[in-house]
Amino acid sequence: MAEVTLDSLRKEFDRGTIVAVDDVDLEIEDGEFVTVVGPSGCGKTTTLRMVAGLEEPTAGTIHFDDEDVTDVHAKNRSVAMVFQNYALYPHKTVRENMAFGLKMSTEMTKDERHERVREMAEMMGIEELLDDKPDELSGGQKQRVALGRAIAREPEVFLFDEPLSNLDAKLRTEMRAEIQKLQKEFGVTAMYVTHDQEEAMTMGDRLAILDEGQLQQVGKPTEVYENPVNRFVAGFIGSPAMNFVDVDVDTTGDTTTLVNEAAGFELPLSDQYLRGHDLRDSAYTLGIRPENVSVIEEPKGNEIVTTTVEVVEPIGSDNYVHLALTDDFLARSRPDIKPEPDDVVGIDFDERDLHLFDPETGEDV
Ligand code: ADP
Ligand code: MG
Repeated sequence: MAEVTLDSLRKEFDRGTIVAVDDVDLEIEDGEFVTVVGPSGCGKTTTLRMVAGLEEPTAGTIHFDDEDVTDVHAKNRSVAMVFQNYALYPHKTVRENMAFGLKMSTEMTKDERHERVREMAEMMGIEELLDDKPDELSGGQKQRVALGRAIAREPEVFLFDEPLSNLDAKLRTEMRAEIQKLQKEFGVTAMYVTHDQEEAMTMGDRLAILDEGQLQQVGKPTEVYENPVNRFVAGFIGSPAMNFVDVDVDTTGDTTTLVNEAAGFELPLSDQYLRGHDLRDSAYTLGIRPENVSVIEEPKGNEIVTTTVEVVEPIGSDNYVHLALTDDFLARSRPDIKPEPDDVVGIDFDERDLHLFDPETGEDV
């Protein structure tokens, strides 16, 4: 197994006019599962392809443990890659598909290969499918075959490029758990790419958030969720997304207050908050997650702001209350708090749950 280290890894296309991966530094520990997440086009696949040896970096290096593999050919790197579209050979049976990877990458005898394929098929619960062709399989079965084929090679590094995107929601949840179980069982280092923040939150030991080729933040899912370093990460991680409100710092009275005059928004900050944050007398973007917003059905006038209910969506356990405060300000409230559209309600939240971002740089302050 191997630790994977990316050092100032860079990939430009079209003579430098496209910077797909912009000097990424990332260390994945031996046996760790790191999920790389970001919107479409942010450079996830290109990063993964460089680790696999399928794409040559413009600059920077890739190490597996102490070995510099930057210039090592793909077939000589101990990696296995699983793709969204499975990449199975349509004219070969499942058995042949699984054995083929072994033939290419190991020096096993035919009998050894077939024994390994049988073992893997048993582990993945696909023994009965060994003589089938890929087009006779369901999406989930194809993905299991692709996984089994990848694991059979006993790679040091497992690379996944959105492997679950083609599956329906239920199967996706099932396969999420299965992939993590396999990864831990084999103790293999894994890099998993997805644009789906929910998948990223549930799957990785750590998340690496990428935007426009640049790494924004790396950390445990809860760390990133609780302490996003900038507005991009704050808005991208978490579902439904964080609410943002433009505010100014008002220091004219006895207290320092966050205000948005047009909205009638007024949040006095405690001394304790002010000691922990170096606020200037200027504009900020306030962020608050829907689950941290309380809806007061009968406002008393001492709430942070009052606003109008637009839509209420029951989701079973809770209600999503859409409010007119901003474009789509959302509160997640208990099922018994269920105002009607056009009701005027109050909004409150704890200052400990709020985030403030510099509106210019987007950075958390
Ligand atoms: P993601 O996987 O996050 O969606 P990609 O790594 O596929 O993103 O692409 C990152 C950027 O690089 C995009 O702007 C994409 O258009 C560009 N790109 C990727 N591959 C090539 C290529 N072979 N030639 C030119 N541009 C490319
Ligand atoms: Mg991609």
